[in-house]
Amino acid sequence: MANPQVSIVAPLYNETESLPHLVTRLNAVMDESSLAIEIVLIDDGSRDNTSVLMKQIALTDGRYHCVFLSRNYGHQIALTAGIAASRATEALFIIDGDLQDPPELLTKFYEKYQEGYDVVYAVRKKRKESWLKRAAYSSFYRFMRSISYVDIPLDSGDFSLISRRVADVLVQMPEESRFIRGMRSWIGFRQVGVEYERDARVAGEPKYSFKMLRNLAYNGIFNFSEFPIKLITQLGIITISLAVIYLIQTLIKKYFFGDVPQGFTAILFIIILFSGVQLIALGMIGEYVLRIFFQTKGRPLYVVREIIQQRQSSNSIDPSINHNARINQTA
Ligand code: UDP
Ligand code: MG
Repeated sequence: MANPQVSIVAPLYNETESLPHLVTRLNAVMDESSLAIEIVLIDDGSRDNTSVLMKQIALTDGRYHCVFLSRNYGHQIALTAGIAASRATEALFIIDGDLQDPPELLTKFYEKYQEGYDVVYAVRKKRKESWLKRAAYSSFYRFMRSISYVDIPLDSGDFSLISRRVADVLVQMPEESRFIRGMRSWIGFRQVGVEYERDARVAGEPKYSFKMLRNLAYNGIFNFSEFPIKLITQLGIITISLAVIYLIQTLIKKYFFGDVPQGFTAILFIIILFSGVQLIALGMIGEYVLRIFFQTKGRPLYVVREIIQQRQSSNSIDPSINHNARINQTA
């Protein structure tokens, strides 16, 4: 198959039950679409029959491109493996393997891509999950948005369509603890949200355990926010302020009312004061750690959207005057 225009990328971990449904739906999407589509399935070290089924599909249908990881690495890494394996020339459509993200939406998302958007992300209107899970997600996304230094959209996960160039940058970002929805926002370009209703999983149990969800949330918070470190410094400042208020209050009591116990107040003041000083010191060390942390992530410093530079013309009359446009230059 010549290079496809679009890849549909889906990671799978122990999805024996959903896989046949997924394949049926994907085949229907490919049959109805006029686009040249390739399906990239990633087996994230499944322990059930998933990889056997995937092998069969890949060997019988040339449109399927299957990648098998050596062990279970987790959804975000599996997705990265799929993005790296994609040969799509135009765009990658990223979905979950349990059909919670309807693959039929490809047409709608692709239209937005054609309008010039590099990232078309799905925004969940309604979740067909327990209210507890819904509430947890909703509060997390709001919290995340309030502390993050990139504009991560509310109620959107990894379900999205990304252009070839966004996929290339994503694969080049070497950070190990990945939070793809945040990295996707960081990359920039024109991004747009499309609302959809998230379906219930077609079969089987959710593969994300509570622990994995918590780790994902941590990756979001610690990779895209300086809030935790700033919090320590803030606490230090609050503590020192409390110590000063306590001192003033004690002095007023002592000079106007004279009922202050000897020694005790001084010790308490010093304890609170130095707790504050220590917190601030920790926050200062934290600032350095933060800088080291962001540096070691090895992200590109910036992503260039476009460079416009005319070629130097040879018939220029005065070579010291440059009439050519130099709008954007990269270092
Ligand atoms: N998944 C994966 N590796 C994992 C856990 C999950 O590749 O370690 C896949 C899983 O097969 C599914 C997708 O990631 O296709 C989303 O997982 P799940 O449905 O469990 O997450 P939820 O929808 O509950 O957020
Ligand atoms: Mg799911």
